[in-house]
Parts: sequence; structure tokens; C-alpha cells
Amino acid sequence: MPDSIFTKIINRELPAQIIYEDDRVVAFHDINPQAPVHVLVVPRKQIPMLDDLRPEDAPLVGHMVHVATKLAGELKLDLGYRIVMNCNHQGGQTVFHIHLHLMGGRQMQWPPG
Ligand code: 5GP
Repeated sequence: MPDSIFTKIINRELPAQIIYEDDRVVAFHDINPQAPVHVLVVPRKQIPMLDDLRPEDAPLVGHMVHVATKLAGELKLDLGYRIVMNCNHQGGQTVFHIHLHLMGGRQMQWPPG
């Protein structure tokens, strides 16, 4: 599998505003923010999409969500925020390396487009 854009960011081969990293995930600001705060939480493990998750990946996905909630606190999203994961083309996925969107700083609408 060729390296994804996100793997290249994780490996510091492409620039990004990284705000958090640990042994399992890296978080950085989205290049095209859809809200005042728009951060991506990306696993170091390059899994193309949610449909590729295996049972043993469940703790990793839980960790992604947990990291996002901690970052929401640090980023002062006290009034609320949205976490989104897109799957495949019809789900709006454009980068085929699973990731979580943490968005906040404005009123979110429902249903999303
Ligand atoms: P998806 O549409 O796959 O759910 O989300 C991919 C996200 O990655 C989009 O919000 C897009 O703006 C962001 N993105 C794509 N390329 C880059 C990049 O090179 N750097 C950063 N920081 N974000 C990117």
C-alpha cells in the first residue's frame, strides 16, 4: 500500500500543524477547515477505511475518540463539538486513511449534508 497523505504528515514528509501525538495517533489542523476548530485525529496505522477495521482495531478507534474529547477540552469547545468519521466515497471520504474530524466553535446543523 503506498503511503497516504496522512502517513506522509505523520512521517514529517509533508507539513501540517500537529497539535498532539502519541504512540498510536497524531492530531493536526485540517488544511480546509469547515468550522473555527477543525482537527483531524489520525491513527499511525494506515487503515484505508472503516470497512477495513478488524476486531483488534476497536481499542484504537476508542483511543481516537478519547483523544478527540481531550483536545476538545484543550481547544475550549466547552459549548459542544461534533465528531465525524466518513466512510468511502458516498460517505464523503476523500483521504483513504481512517481519521476522525473534531469540529467546533460554531453551531452545528442537523442533518449534515
Ligand atoms: P475526508 O473527506 O476523507 O473525511 O476528510 C479528509 C480531510 O483531510 C478533509 O477535511 C481535508 O480538508 C483534509 N486534508 C486533505 N489533505 C490534507 C493535507 O494535506 N493536510 C491537512 N492538514 N489536511 C488535509
